[in-house]
Amino acid sequence: MSERRTTAVLDRNGLDSLVEALRAQGRTVIGPTVRDGAVVLADLASADELPFGWGTRVEAGRYRLVPRADGAAFAHTTGPQSWKAFLHPEREKLWSADRTADGHLSVAEDRPESPSYAFLGVRPCDLRAIAIQDRVLTGGRYKDRGYLERRAGAFLVVAECTEPGATCFCVSMGSGPGADTGFDLALTELVDEHGHRFLVRVGSDAGDAVLSAVPHRPADPETRTAARDAVDAARERMGRAMPPVNLRTLLGESLEAERWDDVAARCLTCGNCTMVCPTCFCTTTEEVTDLTGDHAERWQRWDSCFDLDFSHLHGGPVRASARSRYRQWLTHKLFTWHEQFGSSGCVGCGRCIAWCPVGIDITEEAAALHDELAERLRPDARKEPEP
Ligand code: SF4
Ligand code: SF4
Repeated sequence: MSERRTTAVLDRNGLDSLVEALRAQGRTVIGPTVRDGAVVLADLASADELPFGWGTRVEAGRYRLVPRADGAAFAHTTGPQSWKAFLHPEREKLWSADRTADGHLSVAEDRPESPSYAFLGVRPCDLRAIAIQDRVLTGGRYKDRGYLERRAGAFLVVAECTEPGATCFCVSMGSGPGADTGFDLALTELVDEHGHRFLVRVGSDAGDAVLSAVPHRPADPETRTAARDAVDAARERMGRAMPPVNLRTLLGESLEAERWDDVAARCLTCGNCTMVCPTCFCTTTEEVTDLTGDHAERWQRWDSCFDLDFSHLHGGPVRASARSRYRQWLTHKLFTWHEQFGSSGCVGCGRCIAWCPVGIDITEEAAALHDELAERLRPDARKEPEP
């Protein structure tokens, strides 16, 4: 990779050229755009479709678009979708079977060819989430072939965070607001007295090749400093934080905590938190047939550990109560995920907080578990009462 291209500056028009260059490579460019009152991820025909002039206001159980005077494109928090909607789609046909004229069955794996994706505006927390799903879906003995194909050709353009939301806590999960590796290009958006521009860092040879096809200028020291300061300032403005304790130990010690009853009284077991989570990966399979019985298909679709059927063994669900299902979700995220996949299953994106219909907050639940455990371990709390 050429050293002189490791950092550059794009102006607003440069962003148009970047999308054009990616599309010229035959890529499907996916990025944020405003639709249905939210910033969603969609196929972009041009950079004009980015959410220029839109920010977001988020809180537990709340998400609103808010206009911004500065015209920034990436000054919004994560929306209801994540990149897993494209790499690990909600529904995927695995195979179909047809009865032939002689009464036999013909089975075909009719997967469509994977698009060559370019993801524009990947937040650092979501970049970490992609790395986690890489490990889960392709890092073991059994690999998800569809994921592998879609991920192999994906070009990643990060947009570092300069406007964290009230539900964000990537700093306490070590996954943002800046990105160091794992991308092809990384943008840091700046809107100030020197204009609207993007500091670009190159992270791969593929990124270097794309940047060379886009009008840009070498990065000046002022822009580099301003970009670093903007990300540092975002680090100081995180809306939330996980308690500064070993979360693995905390969850491991909290299996019988009373707090699970408290959260179970509020949780609707709707599964929204698992649907919006960029790392949740569980799927189930289902077969459908047509009315003639001559054609059948097997589909893979997202599943949720909040679904009663998810833990159904002979006779009924293993986790029949809301208490046991929420506990399973949180304990897997913060504790057993480490044992399975070598990392936490949470990147601090805050989606599960914003999109929970009753505003259950993973950081608040972890803090409550911590307080309960600390109380239980307090030396005088363990003393037997005086006779
Ligand atoms: S925590 Fe919230 S989003 Fe998750 S299942 Fe319960 S009610 Fe639904
Ligand atoms: S558990 Fe919540 S905050 Fe953590 S990665 Fe999933 S959606 Fe984001």
